Amino acid sequence: MGHFHTLDDADVKGKRALIRVDLNVPMADGKVTDDTRIRAAEPTISDITKRGGRAILLAHFGRPKDGPEEKYSLKQVVPAVAAVLGRPVAFAEDCIGPKAEAAVAAMKDGDVLILENTRFHKGEEKNDKALVDALAKLGDLYVNDAFSAAHRAHASTEGLARRLPAFAGRSMQAELEALDAALGNPKRPVVAIVGGAKVSSKIDLLENLVAQVDALVIGGGMANTFLAAQGVKVGKSLADPDLAETALRILVAAKKSGCAIVLPEDAVVAKEFKAGAASRIVSLDAVAADDMILDVGPKSIAAVNAWIDKAATLVWNGPLGAFEIAPFDKATVAAAQHAAERTKAGRLLSVAGGGDTVAALNHAQVAGDFSFVSTAGGAFLEWMEGKPLPGVDALIH
Ligand code: AMP
Repeated sequence: MGHFHTLDDADVKGKRALIRVDLNVPMADGKVTDDTRIRAAEPTISDITKRGGRAILLAHFGRPKDGPEEKYSLKQVVPAVAAVLGRPVAFAEDCIGPKAEAAVAAMKDGDVLILENTRFHKGEEKNDKALVDALAKLGDLYVNDAFSAAHRAHASTEGLARRLPAFAGRSMQAELEALDAALGNPKRPVVAIVGGAKVSSKIDLLENLVAQVDALVIGGGMANTFLAAQGVKVGKSLADPDLAETALRILVAAKKSGCAIVLPEDAVVAKEFKAGAASRIVSLDAVAADDMILDVGPKSIAAVNAWIDKAATLVWNGPLGAFEIAPFDKATVAAAQHAAERTKAGRLLSVAGGGDTVAALNHAQVAGDFSFVSTAGGAFLEWMEGKPLPGVDALIH
């Protein structure tokens, strides 16, 4: 990865810092129900305000279609941000124009202001130059602390970074450093675990990983597609028979680049996917026509853990089984706990992320024991796919 400036390089005293944060928090009855993202932005905001900078927060909220809509107003998150920061937070009813300009002009050093949802302007998602110019008028420098929005080339993520002196915020910096240590410049061997429901959503990811890692563990529903492509009868399991050729192509690519592929050796099956359904551990040649494979079996868990023991670096996306319902959470929990132990022992750098992965690690009660868990979802997946992230590229020089 190229070089990016951090807040350590920024002179913020008396300056207006436009800070792109992730305030896309879940709400119920007008209240924020999970302030994780706000807490993630706190170190950057506090760093700037403590040094006498003026923190002007830019963010999107939801997916407004056609201009301003009450239910997508960032006004609703102001109390939660003020609570996390422990100080009053001002709000401007627009992110550009007279209202925003007046609110910014009223700020003193160390103040915090939230500007209204950037997506209330069509130019945001189009990375429109006029919107970038109008936003740039409000600040002396730009800080991006929203890795989760970095896969999008929007005015507030990419345009502004190219328009003003640009810096990575503390969360962005931590994320970029962790990702670089995991795939950019990793200590080998690197092992990837990819699970989850379907191959169809993760073809690019698998193709990129086989070219980069030393071993790829394939679990979850997507393993069924690989097993079926190799002639295993998977009964009623979730599988993409149309993707058999793609699966075989990925196996050939892995062989060529010297990436070991670790597929399940046994399975936990049930006739239905529901709590309390009777389940059996079977070898791969014993899956009945009306069985569903819902988790990998004990031999597979042992093989995955042996690979975790060999690894210096682990990258993980997607559960090994249908972890939401016991006992199909067993492999995911066992492997997650093993990776957490190795990490705590200083033997493994472990990076995980993407949608359900965070929920799975929380379920295994080990999210805090991994080296880094990304909550970024789409941006994390695109990074695992090896795709450029415009919001990150714009910070790098
Ligand atoms: P993803 O969002 O692609 O990471 O998929 C996560 C989902 O995959 C979870 O909801 C799991 O329940 C599901 N999943 C994992 N393994 C299986 C399986 N063997 N059969 C059906 N669903 C599975």
